[in-house]
Amino acid sequence: MLRRVSYERVCNVKIGEVGWIEKERPKCGPIDAILKPIAIAPCTSDVHTVWEGAVGERTDMILGHECCGEVIEVGELVKDFKPGDRVLVPAITPDWNSLEAQAGYSMHSGGMLSGWKFSNFKDGVFGEFIHVNDADGNLALLPNGIEPEEACMLSDMVPTGFHGAELADVQFGDEVLVVGIGPVGLMSVAGANLRGASRIFAVGTRPVCIEAAKFYGATDFISYKNGPIAEQVLKLTDGNGVDKIIIAGGTVDTFAEVMECLKPGGKIGNVNYLGSGDYIKIPRIEWGVGMGHKEINGGLMPGGRLRMEKLAKLVSAGKLDLSKLITHRFEGFEYVEEALMLMKDKPRDLIKPVVRVEK
Ligand code: NDP
Ligand code: ZN
Repeated sequence: MLRRVSYERVCNVKIGEVGWIEKERPKCGPIDAILKPIAIAPCTSDVHTVWEGAVGERTDMILGHECCGEVIEVGELVKDFKPGDRVLVPAITPDWNSLEAQAGYSMHSGGMLSGWKFSNFKDGVFGEFIHVNDADGNLALLPNGIEPEEACMLSDMVPTGFHGAELADVQFGDEVLVVGIGPVGLMSVAGANLRGASRIFAVGTRPVCIEAAKFYGATDFISYKNGPIAEQVLKLTDGNGVDKIIIAGGTVDTFAEVMECLKPGGKIGNVNYLGSGDYIKIPRIEWGVGMGHKEINGGLMPGGRLRMEKLAKLVSAGKLDLSKLITHRFEGFEYVEEALMLMKDKPRDLIKPVVRVEK
């Protein structure tokens, strides 16, 4: 019996509880792998899971989907990984032989959002043993020179933030608005910058995030507390607005708030979790009375090995510095709960906490 972190929701409202639990070691199927964690990081999504019931009722399910690990067992059909390998692990681990993956939507393999398995359909990574499905399709070797804490950022923050830039279809020279500059939005800023955005407007208030946004390529800064976002953007662009918008923070009303400053033919890429409200309102006039060619794309990041390998190459090549995302470091598995609570409370000096479990 092993000690792991889990949560227990006490009732079906926005009230949650985290605690420790003992569970059996997971079994390794023929194409799977079992890892032990080297470093783990809590995510705003864990906060949504515990305190907002984002994935629905779950009892005694181990939390966490961001980690760097060491392989300790592989199934007999696994070809490319062996015990002792240190690996990158994506938060989204699709079943690569599914029809959805063949159609290009790996993140929805097995049903909508079902490529997200850790701490959703099965135990997550905040445990002494981590089960990874389809190891050859989902693991990537940790390159020399990337430290395990940074590797945790490659699990979710980088691929999700970058997916925002993909969904918004950022092109050379585009002027881009990024709403939300927590760790996800910061990686959207970095992604938009790498894709050639000319001007990047960053929306957020935490000074540490604004500093990091500058580092990752933001050129203009907006506080959502200083009035409507669109109004501020229009003012800064002589009434022209922006070509693309990435939404990585805010609320269900954010679409309505920014639509006016999106140029006709513009695209919105949303990676923000919309946790409340039954409908998303699209403002009729600002959306061009239905004829404005203003596209809205919302998506869970794709996950998988190839994406991890490619994103890691950006780090290895010195084109993406992940150290700026990590503001709080802990050593020892027992600190995972403290790190999670930091993520919940979001102190002003926080971007992302990471817990080093093993040297
Ligand atoms: P953070 O809470 O760290 O950051 C949120 C950002 O949004 C902050 O910059 C915050 O500003 C800003 N913000 C808050 N309220 C508003 C508002 N009303 N209008 C505009 N901006 C606002 O979150 P993360 O970066 O960790 O995560 C962002 C989102 O991405 C979460 O919803 C998370 O669940 C989701 N996510 C999605 C994934 C996917 O695959 N699609 C995967 C992982 C996460 P301030 O500086 O004031 O705090
Ligand atoms: Zn995450």
